Amino acid sequence: MFLGTAGSVPTARRAPPALLLRRGGERLLFDCGEGTQRQMLRSSVGLVDLDEVFLTHFHADHTLGLPGMMKTFALRGRDATLTVYGPPGLEELFGSLRAIFGRLTYPYRLVELRPGDELSRDGYVLRAVRVDHRSSAIGYALVEDQRPGRFDVEAATALGVPPGPLFGALQRGEDVTAPDGRTVRPEQVLGAARSGRRIVLTGDTRPAAGVLEAARGADVLVHDATFGDEEAARAEETAHATAREAAELARAAGVRMLVLTHLSNRYFGPEIAREARAVFPETVVPKDFDIIDVPLPERGGPELVKGGALARREEAGTVGEGSGGGGGGPRGGGGDPDDPPVGGDRVGAPSGGGAAPDGPR
Ligand SMILES: [Zn+2]
Ligand SMILES: [Zn+2]
Repeated sequence: MFLGTAGSVPTARRAPPALLLRRGGERLLFDCGEGTQRQMLRSSVGLVDLDEVFLTHFHADHTLGLPGMMKTFALRGRDATLTVYGPPGLEELFGSLRAIFGRLTYPYRLVELRPGDELSRDGYVLRAVRVDHRSSAIGYALVEDQRPGRFDVEAATALGVPPGPLFGALQRGEDVTAPDGRTVRPEQVLGAARSGRRIVLTGDTRPAAGVLEAARGADVLVHDATFGDEEAARAEETAHATAREAAELARAAGVRMLVLTHLSNRYFGPEIAREARAVFPETVVPKDFDIIDVPLPERGGPELVKGGALARREEAGTVGEGSGGGGGGPRGGGGDPDDPPVGGDRVGAPSGGGAAPDGPR
């Protein structure tokens, strides 16, 4: 769930970086740009009491939302521990943030991660990935455990195994003895092990070998695409990636879907998508409140759900909101047929003067 898809500075349509990853009942927040708590309030999830926040690095656009959110949790009287993960330097960051959020009603725990460090979870590992942002920075790879192969009921029955506890034993990988005395081994009734899902989030980065490695065969790669082609030099200078560079890496890694984010305020999205798709067609450029659904690999590919995270009541209310910079901009991004605006927000668009999209870059 994309809560913020802008790079460096917010725009009328895009908030600074924040991404909520939901897996079963878990909710993991990656980066916490300014205003993230309000983005969450506007979303269908609401401002839930997160247990964990993962920072990719400490630039202001990725962290400014954290002290405010932590303060809000305290004002609500939270008592559960909050764990914040990040690259080396996290303790130092909190040395400064502490002065902002002051006394809290709950404890927090800081965990510094270096590239290669792994958090072992129920059903997956979360791995810190080496990136290249010329500051203390990491990406994250969520890698699910392999799942046992499909259980072939017909084969088991044909081998004389009755349904019941023996089926369970076979599924757990144990040999069983059928009532007729035959030994049946799991590989006789189980298909090949099925891989889990793999999702990689880069945070801010140049194209990086560590990301390429982590992203091999990934279902989804969420990559920095701050700039387009004509600002390739600037991308290099500021340790970001262009859409094309991210697409080249996605192609080399063989990911199923490339998701571009952290757009500079002079881009609307469609032009970034076009440049990337010329290299890697399976590319999307989500807007705030878009969702990417990532089903188990055998159930199909990842899918972009536009506006999927908008709370229902908000959906109607967004008509017209934020369209000021859209249609009239120099790049005409808002009107691109590739990328229809969420919630029909072209309707009632004001005349387009207000939020000039071409910032100081
Ligand atoms: Zn950034
Ligand atoms: Zn940065």
